[in-house]
Order: sequence, then structure tokens, then C-alpha cells
Amino acid sequence: MRKKIVAGNWKMNTLPAEGVELAKGVVAGRGEVCSCVNFIVCPPFTHLSEVAAALKGSDIELGAQNCAAEAKGAYTGEVAASMIAALGCKYVILGHSERRQYYGETSETLNKKMAQAYENSLTPIYCVGENLAEREAEKHFDVVKAQIEEVVYNLTAEQFKNLVIAYEPVWAIGTGKTATADQAQEIHAYIRKVLAAKFGAAAEECPILYGGSCKPSNAAEIFAKQDVDGGLIGGAALKAEDFLAIGKGFAK
Ligand code: PEP
Repeated sequence: MRKKIVAGNWKMNTLPAEGVELAKGVVAGRGEVCSCVNFIVCPPFTHLSEVAAALKGSDIELGAQNCAAEAKGAYTGEVAASMIAALGCKYVILGHSERRQYYGETSETLNKKMAQAYENSLTPIYCVGENLAEREAEKHFDVVKAQIEEVVYNLTAEQFKNLVIAYEPVWAIGTGKTATADQAQEIHAYIRKVLAAKFGAAAEECPILYGGSCKPSNAAEIFAKQDVDGGLIGGAALKAEDFLAIGKGFAK
């Protein structure tokens, strides 16, 4: 049985006090959702510590939105994987399309970040997904395959056991457009096939999340698909009620 995961990517939103309020709201309502759903919140670096304190005593886990490619040293403005791990993070989002697009993250950088994550016992939530032009040119399968082969294929079998993949079509992120449940299933199944080509049966255990304008009204239909194991949620993760309601979308 694969883990069911609902992870919130808060992006560059909330001041520390607002983040703490949001985390407290998630903790307060968590009991209404099946304990079989694993909730993860990924606040900005600046409030990881305070949010960790707000989550204490609950089963909601903490993640960061990024980490540095190097372990430590003269890298002004960077935040090391060891630092976020020390603040209580168990997960780190890597390769988000916004980082690939606006900060020029390449597979080369992402290989280094993945190594840092594993060295610090963090589980990467590795994001893949095509942009609109690639989808329209029907290149989406090739794009996600390359994003997986260039990074995930470099993992050891042991590391692969601690990996979450998020499929996030760029055209659906923050746009209000969502992939249909069938589109999500089609590419999730394909991703699992690409993973299986390298890691065999272990691919069956790897959670693959859908991300892109996922909200309470569409989560259930998407999560009902066989190869969709939950969601990476942006906008709707900023309201505790919506974030939790997305978790109620698991009917299986
Ligand atoms: C994201 O960026 O990870 C995301 C899924 O955003 P949204 O839900 O706002 O589309």
C-alpha cells in the first residue's frame, strides 16, 4: 500500500505569525480527516522553526521548499539541507517548476541538491512536469522521462525507497486549469513505468503526487485514480480548511 500524501507548498506566502496561525488551523482540524492521509506543510525557510513548534504533538510533518546544492560554506543567501533538517524538516521540495523556470535549476544542480537531501536524511519531493508548449506538441511524456532519467536514475535503490515524485504540469500551476483525472492517471502510470524500468518492483511503492490547481472540488476525482497517491498543493494550502478538505478526497 502506497502512502497517501497531501503536501502544502506555501511558496513565498505568509509572514511568520500568519504561518503559525495556518499551521495551528491544520492541526486543529486534522482529526476530521482519515489518519491514513499523511499531511506535510512546507512553509518559507523563515518560519520553519515556529511552524515546527506549532505542529508539535501532531502527526503533520514539516518540509522545506528548497535546499542548497552544497553542504556549507561561502554561498551567500543559501540554506543548507543540514540546516532545514536541524529545524525539524523531514521533506524538501526539489525541482519545482518555478525554481527550474525562474532560478535556472538544471538537472546538474538538482543532482547535487538530491545528494544533500539524502545526506541529511530528508525525503525529496521531486517535481516533474511539462509546460504548455510541450503539452501541445505532445512532448509531455519525453519531458518527464528526461527529468526522471537525468536525476532520479542517479539514486541508489536505497535512496529511491525514500522518494516522493510530484507531477505538476506547468500549465496547471496557479492558473486554475487542472489536468483532468484521466490526463493525470495517464502520465502518473507512465512515470511509474519509467521508474520501474530502473528500480523494478520498488516503483510500485513510490508515491506520485499530482500538483496544479488542485482544490477540494477536484481532489477526490483525481485521487481516485490508481496511480495518483495524493497532491502537492499550492494556493489551496494557504487555507487550513481547504487544505484539510483536499485530504478528505481520498476514498480509497
Ligand atoms: C505548486 O506550485 O506546487 C502548485 C501545485 O500550485 P497550485 O496548487 O497553486 O497550482
